[in-house]
Amino acid sequence: MSAEGLERNLNEVEARIGASCLRAGRQRSSVTLISVTKRHPSEMVRTAWSLGLRHFGENYAQELRDKNEALSDCVGIRWHAIGPVQPKNAKYIAKAAHWFHALTRLDVAQELSRRRTGAPLPCFIEVNVSGEATKVGIKTSELEHFIGEVRTLPNLEVIGLMTMPPFSENVETSRPYFRSLADLSRAYGLPHLSMGSTNDFEVAIEEGATFVRIGTALFGERL
Ligand SMILES: *Cc1c(COP(=O)(O)O)cnc(C)c1O
Repeated sequence: MSAEGLERNLNEVEARIGASCLRAGRQRSSVTLISVTKRHPSEMVRTAWSLGLRHFGENYAQELRDKNEALSDCVGIRWHAIGPVQPKNAKYIAKAAHWFHALTRLDVAQELSRRRTGAPLPCFIEVNVSGEATKVGIKTSELEHFIGEVRTLPNLEVIGLMTMPPFSENVETSRPYFRSLADLSRAYGLPHLSMGSTNDFEVAIEEGATFVRIGTALFGERL
């Protein structure tokens, strides 16, 4: 992906985000665009940063650690860990991430809190809204208990909920999942919603997403 190609894609994604905000009666500033750069090289992230992007999403703890080191001169860069993590790799996220979007395990939460220094790590709990056996995330029936457990940890702050709906060609299929997640976050008094990717971010914004995680629409297909 050339810088020109990326800029074109970014303009298009921005226009779509803006239109979605308008339809929903929301300010553009209420939605943070996370550029998902997993499996793309650090130099691609640098190009995106030079175009003004600041929030980057990575799925793998070591890849986030390495890119954070390689791009330490990029002023204002912000890292979002958006994928599952093993307890043994939680230290990389505790150190380098500004947000964690995929909290589903208490042992990981404990390790993140134990390793975190400085400001508490803002976290999203990933919820399995669809209830499918194969999907990751905390079941809605277990959410209250899990939030309570995480809230006892000193160096984490639960700020919202995250979900990945089952993939569908029809974006409207995602809407009920996003709406359910928004209902849950309201019920628990959580201000943020991490939902929507290339396929369905417009619907997610209409349903209240405050963070959207977009990879393919910006950077093309991953290898
Ligand atoms: C890869 C990934 C994304 C981005 O997906 P695209 O379809 O490329 O936009 C968003 N969220 C998570 C959790 C991911 O793993």
